[in-house]
Amino acid sequence: MSGSNVFTEAIERLDTAATHSKAHPETVERLRHPKLLTEVSVPVRMDDGSERVFTGYRCRYDDTRGPAKGGIRFHPDVSREEVMALAFWMTVKCAVANIPYGGGKGGVICNPKEMSFAELERVSRGFMRGISHVVGLDVDVPAPDVYTNATVMAWMMDEYSAIVGHREPGVITGKPVALGGSLGRNDATARGGFYQIEELAQIKSFDRGSTTIAIHGFGNAGQYFAQLAADAGYKVVAACDSRGGVYDPNGLDVPTLIETKNSSRRVQGQGSEISGEDLLHLDVDLLVPAALENTITMDNQAGVKAKYILELANGPLTNDADDALAQRGIVAIPDILANSGGVTVSYFEWVQNKSGLYWELADVHEKLRTKMAEEFRAIWGFAESKGITMRTAAYAIALDRLAEAHEATGTAASYAR
Ligand code: GLU
Repeated sequence: MSGSNVFTEAIERLDTAATHSKAHPETVERLRHPKLLTEVSVPVRMDDGSERVFTGYRCRYDDTRGPAKGGIRFHPDVSREEVMALAFWMTVKCAVANIPYGGGKGGVICNPKEMSFAELERVSRGFMRGISHVVGLDVDVPAPDVYTNATVMAWMMDEYSAIVGHREPGVITGKPVALGGSLGRNDATARGGFYQIEELAQIKSFDRGSTTIAIHGFGNAGQYFAQLAADAGYKVVAACDSRGGVYDPNGLDVPTLIETKNSSRRVQGQGSEISGEDLLHLDVDLLVPAALENTITMDNQAGVKAKYILELANGPLTNDADDALAQRGIVAIPDILANSGGVTVSYFEWVQNKSGLYWELADVHEKLRTKMAEEFRAIWGFAESKGITMRTAAYAIALDRLAEAHEATGTAASYAR
């Protein structure tokens, strides 16, 4: 997943975007360097009595527009470079979504699938102890990412609160509702992407019933997106996870598929079996990569036939594959826009924690829809007017917003805590 060049590749996007942005070259240069990168070792007592030492990272990439914001990933392939790339993307994503945050990211090299519940709790609490001096309510605010969830966030918030000596729910978002989480955070990433597809459908006058969708990755984002799309009448024809997938040209029964996946840990039981690679090459209207980085590369891009790609995962296309697809007229709604619904509702959660006033689900949905529609239309319009891709347009708009903040701040960087 995370070759050592993932970070170098990520910041390469700045150069193309800079030519369409008013940002001063000094802002672009500043964005090539993470502000703070913390590496910790986390000794954990395993259930069998032995001690294992896990390595974790937290990157505060840029905090000029506000506190750093971004998830924590638990995955065997986590690396320093991957965390830096993901933190850079968060910086750009928060500027695209126009929420008052910088970007950050964290990760622990571990495999939660091989750990007991108690071991997972010890890793989560141990990691928070390790990074507690570099995160904070107005400093850097973590959230869930790949293989972490509300329960993990609850343990981390509890641990942090114990360290600082008072309850601090807003130090982390994506918490269980019972501990100060926001209604609507669980499906926010998928819902944000779904609202954007609804905008696209309006612009392009899609007939939902004949619009086909294939979903690559069936975790939180993939499952919720499948459900929202199916409920709205779109035809979800294929889905897969890392172990395989299913395809039915007449449409899948999504609620049953989600139930099967969550009880058997596999996407199976209907239509015909399909590999992840073949799913990428299906002749569908919309392809939704919802797993990890570098899913579509130069080795497999030539077979992609979808008209549109909604990047619910972070970094699913390599730069060269992205260029090749764009040349063939395939429109990619870029990750920094497509999956920004997650961090947008994280922002709503943080605002609720700070104010102590909690919102109705309908309010969350309405505010999310307004934001997603606004940013989608702005980026779509800018891309059309300049004849550039939506990715370049999104980066250029983000760069302008970041430059404005950098210029307003001046040169001296401050380091909270
Ligand atoms: N991990 C999610 C992302 O990549 C959410 C981050 C957040 O809510 O802070 O956007």
